[in-house]
Amino acid sequence: MNITWLGCASLRLDCGRTTLWVDPFMSMNADAENPTDEETFSEAREILITHGHFDHLMSIPEFNSVREIRVHCTETPRETLLKCGMPEQRIHQFSFGQTVEFDDAKVRVFKGKHNKIDSKIAIATTLRVATSIRRIVDFFNIVAVHKRFPEAEETVMFEVKSGNERVQIIGSPNVCEDAVLPEMGADLLVLPFNGTSNPTSMAMHIVETYRPKAVLLSHFDNAFPPMTAPVKIQPFIAEMRRKYPDIPVHIPTFGETFLVSSLAVSSAGNDRPVAVESTQLHAHIA
Ligand SMILES: [Zn+2]
Repeated sequence: MNITWLGCASLRLDCGRTTLWVDPFMSMNADAENPTDEETFSEAREILITHGHFDHLMSIPEFNSVREIRVHCTETPRETLLKCGMPEQRIHQFSFGQTVEFDDAKVRVFKGKHNKIDSKIAIATTLRVATSIRRIVDFFNIVAVHKRFPEAEETVMFEVKSGNERVQIIGSPNVCEDAVLPEMGADLLVLPFNGTSNPTSMAMHIVETYRPKAVLLSHFDNAFPPMTAPVKIQPFIAEMRRKYPDIPVHIPTFGETFLVSSLAVSSAGNDRPVAVESTQLHAHIA
């Protein structure tokens, strides 16, 4: 399996004859850290949605390819897409516990949990936004969009199996403690790193819960300022080195494709993950 991070929570997974796209998101404003557009996702056909928030769902009805794609999601994002005018036959609804089968991949859907915005991060956002009229306008535009894209406690976690490899993808940095959890020890865990004032402690709890062979961070970039801001990743890297020195943490660069099997190389070694498409190797192995 190959994996490519495409900004925000967007991913492409190449599994033999099957290519899966997760949460494709086109940038909303010019200040986005990793700008994405129609072209970024022009090849997307099979799309998996972790939850219904705008930064995971809103771009899909705008794709020119909307009549050629198939979106796999839970009930609420399905309803949101229908309200946006998406053709019904383009949407496949799944529920927790189901497995969606593709030619060369099987995707099992687990119940996840969305993180809660805490008061510290709400205050930090307010202070950041209040510094200019443009930021205030952008902020309220995003708030208006946010209301049209409810999550409705339907955040999922995916486990993508292809051949002998397993990749687990978390929709939001939290653990649904009372749900059936996937088996530990996946080849890779994709971990969204954002949304709380202390993302390190939540990320450590997630790693503790799933004990993957490697971690790839996503959703850490400043994807829709001024709602988002740069996130400090270093404390998490330091804590992982201390507690789990054998689990490498990868901070991907936009658009770089990696062989999943190469990501579990321990940080203690000299080996680097194998980028299969990019001419330059930018990813930092922690
Ligand atoms: Zn969300």
